[in-house]
Amino acid sequence: AAKDNGKNTVQFFVAGMDEAYSNTMVLETMMHKALNNNEFELHYQPRINVRTGALSGLEALIRWRHPEQGLIPPTDFIPVAEESGMINPIGEWVLRTACAQNKSWQDAGYPPFSVAVNLSVRQFREQNLVQLISDVLRETGLEPQYLELEITENLSMHNMEYVLSILHEIRTLGVKISMDDFGTGYSSLSYLKKFPIDHLKIDQSFIRDIQHHKEDHSIVKAIISMAHSLGMIVVAEGVETDVQSSLLHEMDCDEIQGYLISKPLSADKIRHFLESKDEQ
Ligand code: C2E
Ligand code: MG
Ligand code: MG
Ligand code: MG
Repeated sequence: AAKDNGKNTVQFFVAGMDEAYSNTMVLETMMHKALNNNEFELHYQPRINVRTGALSGLEALIRWRHPEQGLIPPTDFIPVAEESGMINPIGEWVLRTACAQNKSWQDAGYPPFSVAVNLSVRQFREQNLVQLISDVLRETGLEPQYLELEITENLSMHNMEYVLSILHEIRTLGVKISMDDFGTGYSSLSYLKKFPIDHLKIDQSFIRDIQHHKEDHSIVKAIISMAHSLGMIVVAEGVETDVQSSLLHEMDCDEIQGYLISKPLSADKIRHFLESKDEQ
């Protein structure tokens, strides 16, 4: 019986692995098709200066418009794309599309703002990222100061010297760098000192209860003052209420992003958003 049990366990384990493996394979094939069939789209979420209300930039956020399943959020497919390597062609599409879109808004006469693109760790390891960025800027005609790249703290766990050299090359192109979801990752403060960062985005988990939790309030205040003394611009993510916005303003936060200002919008709806801002 013991032998049978052992056998069953092994079979179960192998069957489970097969299933997980084939699910990833199926999703990978689907994503490959989706890229060819133009099923991915970018939505853009505004970020504003908390003091003046002026638009400071838009963050590009990917969605998958699946013919049967409707709009699929990035949290449902980006992790698999990262695991399978599909994040490289998808990330390239995001970068090119966001830059081309921003250039076309500028050409339409809107006051220029920057577009922020999220990068995955794997794009640092497997692509000639610096070459790709400079090619995309040249092809689309977007000036480098209107592009920002969002990285996460987890990047610091991968070959620091290498990552740093790439970040410095990106900076040399004139492109800005943002540290996304700050406070949730694994980095230590010494990394923050070494990383060439323009914007620090405080993760929404610290903002959510800022008016009720003294701890969150203190942490956010400390992050803002530390980031300022390192010469960074501070952005609060996930701002949903006027109370949060006023508190952040009082704490000397520079910029806010969140549903209070706007949800991520399709490129068409961004035009309406920009036009309503014009009238203010
Ligand atoms: P993120 O880069 O931290 O993006 C912010 C997320 O917070 C977005 O979710 C946005 O819709 C959501 N959000 C914004 N304001 C609020 C708010 O006031 N309240 C709440 N509850 N949520 C808010 P989304 O679009 O589902 O994206 C999730 C994550 O997927 C992103 O987090 C990013 O890590 C990843 N992602 C999205 N697009 C891309 C992409 O093109 N490439 C890569 N590598 N990752 C991406
Ligand atoms: Mg982001
Ligand atoms: Mg974030
Ligand atoms: Mg996030």
